[in-house]
Amino acid sequence: MEEPLFLDSVFQEKIWGGTKLKTVFGYDLPADKIGEYWAISAHPHGVSTVKNGQYQGQKLDELWANHRELFGNVSGEVFPLLTKILDAEDYLSVQVHPNDAYALKHEGELGKSECWYIIDAKPNAKIIYGHHARTRKEFVEMIHDARWNDLLTHVSVKKGEFYYVPSGTIHAIGKGILILETQQSSDTTYRVYDFDRKDDKGNLRKLHIKQSIDVTNIPGVTPKLEIMKEKVGLSMITTFAKTPFFNVYKWRVKGELFLQKGAPYTLVSVIEGKGSLIITESSYALRKGDHFILPAGIDDWHFTGDLTLIASEPGEN
Ligand code: ZN
Repeated sequence: MEEPLFLDSVFQEKIWGGTKLKTVFGYDLPADKIGEYWAISAHPHGVSTVKNGQYQGQKLDELWANHRELFGNVSGEVFPLLTKILDAEDYLSVQVHPNDAYALKHEGELGKSECWYIIDAKPNAKIIYGHHARTRKEFVEMIHDARWNDLLTHVSVKKGEFYYVPSGTIHAIGKGILILETQQSSDTTYRVYDFDRKDDKGNLRKLHIKQSIDVTNIPGVTPKLEIMKEKVGLSMITTFAKTPFFNVYKWRVKGELFLQKGAPYTLVSVIEGKGSLIITESSYALRKGDHFILPAGIDDWHFTGDLTLIASEPGEN
């Protein structure tokens, strides 16, 4: 019988990070300003390790390379998805990511489309999501003249919202926001503006103006999402997005929720509550902050308890 793959993963220190990964999720943090937990990752900058069952101690990239049957024998050189939790104590840089074609040519890795589930946000918290330039010439001029307020679109956000950020979208997560991010497995970020901040050694972080001008969608387009909700007993299944890169869902479990697989494998994060995952006769205790993969071979499962989970599957690109 296949077992779920529970994971232990890597924290990333960031100048904009905080301590919520400890205070909200209970993780043991290696430093004071932790911005990101790469909760489900096979990216070389931070690879998850299996912590249970017959694959205990193995890295996710090794499983992808040597046990592709766990992932339905799908093709692809790299495990395509990456789940992160981000604690933005301050604004992240204003940034943009390339698409696959540009990233493979210039960076030797996948492009980065990403999406955000807002786990929590301070009152009046904002993100930067898109821009107002109508032409590339205008975009270049506004950057050159540092007209950031004219250029950037600010959007107020609330707990429970979902944003899709395809490659080419100018964006920044704002101060006081805790996010679960589902993204392509990529670490290529082009910084447009970093609020003239310095790191603890007094250095500015590098900007990537030329690349940003190359890859930004102009004029900007805000993706339209058709969010679907399906009530199942007291529980609720929300489909946030189906994209070429990933499909993302929220499973709100109250009592119990029975599910069947919709893709070769599924990534799952527990963002609230307590309960159990049940696969045939086996039961696995779940609590906030757990992350696991349901490999191929697990066709149906159910949850019991009071849980909020974010799940993702590979898209069909
Ligand atoms: Zn980003």
